[in-house]
Amino acid sequence: MRTYYIAGNWKMHKTRAEAAELAGALVAQLKDGKHKYLVAPSFTLIETVAPIVRGSNILLGAQNMAPEEQGAHTGEVSVLQLKDLGVTTVILGHSERRHIYKEDDALINKKVKLALRHGLEVILCIGELLEEREAGRAEAVCESQIVKGLEGVEDLSRVVIAYEPVWAIGTGKTATPEDADAIHAYVRRLIGKLYGAGAAEKIIIQYGGSVKPENAAQLMAKENIDGALVGGAALKADSFVPIAKF
Ligand code: PEP
Repeated sequence: MRTYYIAGNWKMHKTRAEAAELAGALVAQLKDGKHKYLVAPSFTLIETVAPIVRGSNILLGAQNMAPEEQGAHTGEVSVLQLKDLGVTTVILGHSERRHIYKEDDALINKKVKLALRHGLEVILCIGELLEEREAGRAEAVCESQIVKGLEGVEDLSRVVIAYEPVWAIGTGKTATPEDADAIHAYVRRLIGKLYGAGAAEKIIIQYGGSVKPENAAQLMAKENIDGALVGGAALKADSFVPIAKF
């Protein structure tokens, strides 16, 4: 039986005071929540949010990390620094990293392996562009991102996949529950081929792309959708809490 996992990606939003207020509201309002929860604030907010979520049922995540452990990498943040702040989980391969900052699968794979080697949980984001979907390539794109992103990874027990069709992120357009579930089912079959039936059954596959309180329950009702990675609606307790408690 898989646990539903609802994660909030705060992206490049909020000051420390705003982040503390949101984190405090989430801790209070999700304390009786039945699923697994995570918030991923900007690097500069992690130290503020850490003591607020510590001891609660909300995990602390980061939105990215450097591909190297430490050293001369101006502007980057290392896995050691994240662990020092109590981060347990890192989001890697988000479409904004892939498409705005041109991160490729080889770089993402390096980060995935480094994070896992240091005991972090990884949320590996995959998803196709609109033109790729229209050309009938959604499955092939997702397959390639998984195969390359997980190259050399043997154990999936700390890996979560987030299927986020790029055309649905921050656009208000959500994939229909049926379309999303079809890709999730494809991903689960692929994991089965690569890692065996046990891993396929266990792996959490989140959906991301304009998840809102109004559509969360229909998405989560699908057999292969095990949670959500939420952007815009994660910025307010009023919208994140109903998703988290769908
Ligand atoms: C995201 O950034 O991961 C995301 C899914 O954003 P939104 O919910 O705003 O579409």
